[in-house]
Amino acid sequence: MHTGQTIREAFAGASSFLRDRGSDSPEFEAELLLRRLLGLNRTQLFMKMADAFPADVTLEWDKWLARRAEGEPIQYIVGDQEFYGRVYEVNSSVLIPRPETELLVEGVLQEGKSLFGDEEVWIAEVGTGSGCISISLVLEAPNWTVTTVDLSSEALGVARRNAASYDVLERVEFMQGNLVEPLISKKDRFQIFVSNPPYISSDEMLGLEKQVRSFEPHLALHGGSDGLDPYRLLCGDLCSWPNLRLVAFEIGASQGSEVERLVQSIPGMSKTEIRQDYAGLDRMVFGWRHV
Ligand code: GLN
Repeated sequence: MHTGQTIREAFAGASSFLRDRGSDSPEFEAELLLRRLLGLNRTQLFMKMADAFPADVTLEWDKWLARRAEGEPIQYIVGDQEFYGRVYEVNSSVLIPRPETELLVEGVLQEGKSLFGDEEVWIAEVGTGSGCISISLVLEAPNWTVTTVDLSSEALGVARRNAASYDVLERVEFMQGNLVEPLISKKDRFQIFVSNPPYISSDEMLGLEKQVRSFEPHLALHGGSDGLDPYRLLCGDLCSWPNLRLVAFEIGASQGSEVERLVQSIPGMSKTEIRQDYAGLDRMVFGWRHV
């Protein structure tokens, strides 16, 4: 079907195919996929429009377009996503890193550095996913070490590969298990706790856009009937961590006051703060504790 076509024809064909299948930005998506398939930047692609479409990638191209037409996120198709200035491998066993979560990383870096300066700091993270939070933290703070937990061994596999590709395997420890369970025996060492847990309620799960609901892991999204189960369990467990000074959560936009109350219930909390994302929505809760 593609025999003899030019790159321009492949681009035009893909754009109209994606438009017919309901895409809102078919040209943009076709260009992005085509550039990744052919390994070209924008300028190179436009310079090569009249060249023959390489026959050896035709099958792959058809597969990519079919997947996109089914609604699969582009990041899973091309296999990566940028986060905090670096590229991370992703697949359907991990949540695609969101730009809002960069604000969580930025906040932890800022508050952690103002609390501890250049001291060595141990951080616990629950919900590793692609590993983007933990890996960003250790790359931005040379004296920090993170232990991170995920229930999914597939996710931990992705995260380990990401850590290996940034050469930080010796500063990010990966553990498999439920919430803080694997951390309990070493809870004395942690000064900072950070998590972007699953926080979507059962009702909201039904209303998620198809691209999220049908393709991203529900394990990383669904936080129980009201979406707050992980915060309840985590804040309950954190009560007994003797050296914890900073707690930082990503939250759903409607969960600010409830999560803040849960964080305040950890003994020794001296201050809490709800912080907003780029859209002005409540997106994080920070808590400071004196020990
Ligand atoms: N921010 C994600 C979304 O909007 C949810 C992430 C989470 O549950 N931790 O789909």
